[in-house]
Amino acid sequence: MTILFDDVTMDEAVSSAMESIREEKRCRVVTPNAEFALEAKKNPRFLNILNGSELVLADGISVIYASRIVGRPLRGRVTGVGFAQALAAALAKEGKSLYLLGAKPGVAESAAQRLQESNPGLVIAGTHDGYFREEAPVVEAINTARPDALFVCLGAPKQEYFMEDHGGELNVPVMAGLGGSMDVLAGNVKRAPAFFQKCGMEWLYRLCKEPKRWRRMARLPLYLWDALMWKRKGAK
Ligand code: UDP
Repeated sequence: MTILFDDVTMDEAVSSAMESIREEKRCRVVTPNAEFALEAKKNPRFLNILNGSELVLADGISVIYASRIVGRPLRGRVTGVGFAQALAAALAKEGKSLYLLGAKPGVAESAAQRLQESNPGLVIAGTHDGYFREEAPVVEAINTARPDALFVCLGAPKQEYFMEDHGGELNVPVMAGLGGSMDVLAGNVKRAPAFFQKCGMEWLYRLCKEPKRWRRMARLPLYLWDALMWKRKGAK
């Protein structure tokens, strides 16, 4: 069993999330990349949460390569951080509100400020850092704030577990697991320049900036290897 991605563009993903808000329908958004896929291979609970989500966005370039290898090409990447920015813009236009959960203390507040500067009219219903012991008070704080959308940036699989464990009690139509996006939205971590993004080399930029990640990243080609193996199995 593998991750079942939605073949959507950024515009379609945002429209679908906004429609869920208008219709008060639940929409859980996940943004898997190659690291998620390797984790999902050995973690059935994680895989079930990903595949049970309403929007499964292809965050990594290796997901796009893998989709081509297996002969079911996706139209393109929809990065978590790009989705966060586009959804914030759409929320601002319709006067809807957003709650930011995750990252180190102070980061969500900086992200909120920057999002409001670039999207006048955006309502920030609340913020909370991602280093809490008890989840119940956090769930209560979110419900009291009554946001239309919630960004959950706790890293994977913690953020997916949080969304599944509390999806029923949380009174929020759209919930998105967005990993390290909060640090980018706050301006603490820079995204790769457009050139790297266009060439699908964002990973190389990130590796140069954060060499500590090499051990994590060295495993990623395994995902493409897996895709080659599925292809061979499929061809039999
Ligand atoms: N994080 C958090 N609570 C935790 C662990 C992590 O809020 O208990 C945050 C961390 O500060 C960072 C994000 O989750 O902002 C995870 O970042 P990472 O780069 O590992 O995620 P990726 O984007 O690679 O999934």
